[in-house]
Amino acid sequence: MAAMKILVQKFGGTSVATLERMQKVREKVEDGLGRADKVVAVLSARAGDTDNLLALAGQWSKNPDRAECDVLASTGEQVSVALFTMLLKDGGIKARSLLACQIPVVTDDSFGRARIRSIGSEALRAFLDRYDVLVVTGFQGCTEDGRVTTLGRGGSDTSAVALAAALGSVECEIYTDVDGVYTTDPNICSAARKMDRVAYSEMLEMASMGAKVLHIRSVEFAQKYNVPVRVRSTFNDDPGTLVTQEDSSMEALLVSGIAYDRDQARVTLHDVPDVPGVAAAVFGPLSEKGVLVDMIVQNTSLDGLTDITFTISRKDLKHTLEITAEVAAKTGAAEVVHDVNVAKVSAIGVGMRNHSGVAARAFAALTQEGINILMISTSEIKITILIQEKYVELAVRILHDTFGLDWDVA
Ligand code: ADP
Ligand code: ASP
Ligand code: MG
Repeated sequence: MAAMKILVQKFGGTSVATLERMQKVREKVEDGLGRADKVVAVLSARAGDTDNLLALAGQWSKNPDRAECDVLASTGEQVSVALFTMLLKDGGIKARSLLACQIPVVTDDSFGRARIRSIGSEALRAFLDRYDVLVVTGFQGCTEDGRVTTLGRGGSDTSAVALAAALGSVECEIYTDVDGVYTTDPNICSAARKMDRVAYSEMLEMASMGAKVLHIRSVEFAQKYNVPVRVRSTFNDDPGTLVTQEDSSMEALLVSGIAYDRDQARVTLHDVPDVPGVAAAVFGPLSEKGVLVDMIVQNTSLDGLTDITFTISRKDLKHTLEITAEVAAKTGAAEVVHDVNVAKVSAIGVGMRNHSGVAARAFAALTQEGINILMISTSEIKITILIQEKYVELAVRILHDTFGLDWDVA
């Protein structure tokens, strides 16, 4: 007997926000059933629900318990799967909802940013023998001992790709409010172009540099388990963008995309003694508290003193300032200053591996527009520049044009 063909389709918050939109989603699932034997539909919470739930936590508690925040935030997805399954059943489709803990999707216990460890694929297959569509909560997980977790904001993409990997699904379709992956965010740059294909490596950099169209862990999973991911719109029939293995044609472009991230804060410790162990004293406690440090710069030392500057997510600022104040007091650093009006802009492309001068071109273009560069970091296939937040949209458009990505450039 031929193997059962399973398609995983994920629908984001805007796609499930209202009854009318969920009816469009139902059409996509019906279309999926025409192409595969079974569909696993992974749903996000309705747009705004997760934000509202987390805002409640902030009203109820000064320092909300992280585990309880996950119990709270995960309910948004429970609402969507129940409502959508009702719609499918009304349409005569054999469907049922599944919460992550009913499968289970087992994660570690890092509440708020849990990582998937395993998926009960046998149980899922058994459900698929009885139903044509399983409607699964994205974003949720549960620990070995049954505590509810969430995978981090935007994490439903990761749920979908992980389920696709576990089920050996042909393709994982990510349905959202744009037609696919663009050269940059089409909502801030009208010259952005949709890409037909993008390499996992590039998508990984774009996602980690702020292009929220895919959750970064979803791209890691897709690359690791070789799951082809197709990003497409719930609201039209465009084939979208295939995220897949790199091939030589992709290297023809020097830069293939521009990403930006406003969720940045910059912290500087001034006049820290330039002695061994200071960096460890700053970054050790930050990593213990789970604060992700992004860019780091240490100045050359003057009279045995130096400045250490780094960037973090704005939500970690309070914690970071507490920790750095302690370190400053211990090491005798002069002061700690911070700035939240910063953002980072990145140019990404596998073609950069074999070319020099990309960074210089980016700096020249930004300087010409009077945009001051605060920090720089580079990797093999990307350059990232920290600037004042008020210039972020301008910087994206300038870099998009500088590297020939505007749609009217052949
Ligand atoms: P969903 O709720 O469906 O998961 P998201 O809001 O998480 O949708 O992601 C889709 C959004 O990602 C788009 O509306 C767009 O503003 C943004 N985005 C950022 N960078 C890109 C890009 N390079 N290509 C497409 N969309 C992008
Ligand atoms: N509902 C979650 C969020 O808003 C997860 C997701 O949409 O992917 O972040
Ligand atoms: Mg998303």
